[in-house]
Amino acid sequence: MSNARASQNTSASSLSAPLSISSTTILPFLDISPDALVIINHAGTIVLMNRQTEAVFGYARSELLGQPLELLLPERFREVHTRHRERYFSTPRTRPMGIGLDLVGRRKDGAEFPVEISLNPLLLDDALHVIAAIRDMTAQRVADRKRLQQGEQIRQQAELINLAHDAIFIRDPVSRVLFWNTGAEDLYGWTAQEAQGRISYSLLQTRFPISLAAIEAQIERAGQWEGELVQTCRNGSVVIVESRWAGVRDEQGRLTAIMEVNRDITRRRQLEQAAQSVQTETAARLAFLQQVLDALPSSVYLVYGPDARLLLANRAAASVWGAGWQVDQPMLEFLTTHGIGLFDAQGHPLSSEQYATLRAAQRGETVLQQQELIRRPDGSSLPVLVSAVALPAQRQWSGPLAETEQQTPVGEAVALVMHQDVTALKEAEYLKDEFVGIVAHELRTPLAALKGFADMLLVQTARQRGSALAEWQKEALEEIELATNRLVRLTEDLLDVTRLQAGRLHLQRTPTNAIPLGQSVAALQEQTTTRNRLEVRTTQPELVADIDPGRIEQVLTNLIGNAIKYSPQGGPVTITIWEETAARLVGISVQDRGLGIPKRQHGQIFGRFMRADNAQAWGISGTGLGLYICRELVERHGGQLWFESEEDASSTFFVTLPLVSVPQADHEVSS
Ligand code: ADP
Repeated sequence: MSNARASQNTSASSLSAPLSISSTTILPFLDISPDALVIINHAGTIVLMNRQTEAVFGYARSELLGQPLELLLPERFREVHTRHRERYFSTPRTRPMGIGLDLVGRRKDGAEFPVEISLNPLLLDDALHVIAAIRDMTAQRVADRKRLQQGEQIRQQAELINLAHDAIFIRDPVSRVLFWNTGAEDLYGWTAQEAQGRISYSLLQTRFPISLAAIEAQIERAGQWEGELVQTCRNGSVVIVESRWAGVRDEQGRLTAIMEVNRDITRRRQLEQAAQSVQTETAARLAFLQQVLDALPSSVYLVYGPDARLLLANRAAASVWGAGWQVDQPMLEFLTTHGIGLFDAQGHPLSSEQYATLRAAQRGETVLQQQELIRRPDGSSLPVLVSAVALPAQRQWSGPLAETEQQTPVGEAVALVMHQDVTALKEAEYLKDEFVGIVAHELRTPLAALKGFADMLLVQTARQRGSALAEWQKEALEEIELATNRLVRLTEDLLDVTRLQAGRLHLQRTPTNAIPLGQSVAALQEQTTTRNRLEVRTTQPELVADIDPGRIEQVLTNLIGNAIKYSPQGGPVTITIWEETAARLVGISVQDRGLGIPKRQHGQIFGRFMRADNAQAWGISGTGLGLYICRELVERHGGQLWFESEEDASSTFFVTLPLVSVPQADHEVSS
């Protein structure tokens, strides 16, 4: 009774005259009412009641008739109510009872429950009565409480909503804004007060991806919707938002409101669009590059990363390999999958570290015109010159060219590789080799005759057979002999080249002590010079190598001969012989302080007929065949030949040769 509260559903007071009716007429109508109806006389005694009264209060009709109305109230209210009723009879009018009070009824079992009572004066059988309509308010009060709780919940949620960065607003089914959080104020620029009551999509000039009707149909069906909207803020700026809508329903399931949560994704979209246009532009450029590359007759491809994965290739590349190299496939995997082999110009298999592509991709080397022979899957061979250049690491390479959306991981090195088909050159070279071979072969017999007869003339004259020769005749004969010797060496070199090319050069290996071999070559060569001082250095008395002594003598003669020949101003020539114990090799180096070899020609000096510019500038004669033959001979022994040189300073040539594999304690050593 303490809580003051306005009664809401009772009619306003009325001053109209009381209704006049007889008790027999009214009876059938009483039961129609959903409220408990009780008619009391002037003394406050119940004279009539309907069935609903029995149901609401739990009394039988007989128990109530003739009883005071106050029986239906808790005892503590009875006295007050009696006075109240008596006052009412003095000024009867239709009015609710106990405005501002919580009225309580009492059932027969003593249980109390909230009621609302409205009183009406009534002339029943011409006597003033009062009809009281009593409504059980239990359910109503529960609903009121619930509404109150819900209200509180919504208030708390609204506070939370205001904490969110998203723009959140709630609108009624016709899109009038009911609630507008601070996120919405920040994003759109209208305050909650300004936005309230406005039609949200008109206010924000919302552009929907589909029709509003379709969105509303989905809210009706599924309760929610998600999509992107374009909206305009108060200052005219346009924002793109990621929008989520959720329908709010009442207890009867009617849609009462829609909550719209909008996240500003304008910046994200702008960045995406910028990235997209960069990508489109890059793709167009790459497509153009691809067209240019495809128009080239030579094979060109790009690889990335240490395992040389294919990034892009032009049309000619596929015909070079005789198989399709898949984008992103590592080079070695591609070669093994298709059984493709790579060989050097002499037909020796190349180890993978020697592949021009891998040298550039793994070590960043620039490889120019390396000869490689590709053995294709169908067994055919293709001689090529390979150039591979490491390019600066690229940030990204994308799609259409490579027919993939993948990109090279950031910072991976990229190498550009070109193949030049040299089949025609090889054929010409083959014909030239054939020709050189035939000429050299044909020269041998007349040269042998020349040399033989010159020798014979000199020897027989010395033995005083026949008439003595004049001094000038002797000198002429000696010159003829020297020239023939040079010619013989030249033809031998030419024949060696053709033998090597044709794979007809065979080694006669025998365990040989390399130290006396080196010493004897040095001693012989020393006789050819007055400008140079030759020195052989070694700490070993014996190093037995598994070699063809004639061929290694040829190699050392060439290297020491070059050291003398290319030191026109003299200087020491040092031959060092040592043992590479762990590798079971003998090492020999020949060092001079001569012309040196220009750096730019280091890569080509072992090629056939290759001569350095400075040697020619000094007018030193030569054929450019010696080093080529030396390298071939050493490699056929399983050894290596290389050099270090600085122009105008010095050159050192290094040879390694295999030591015999078993100790040669009681082996006969040839030297
Ligand atoms: P050549 O008959 O020209 O000497 P080689 O094949 O022996 O042929 O040598 C090839 C070229 O290498 C020479 O022409 C010369 O330019 C250069 N060369 C070889 N050895 C030396 C050296 N010790 N010092 C400087 N240059 C050298």
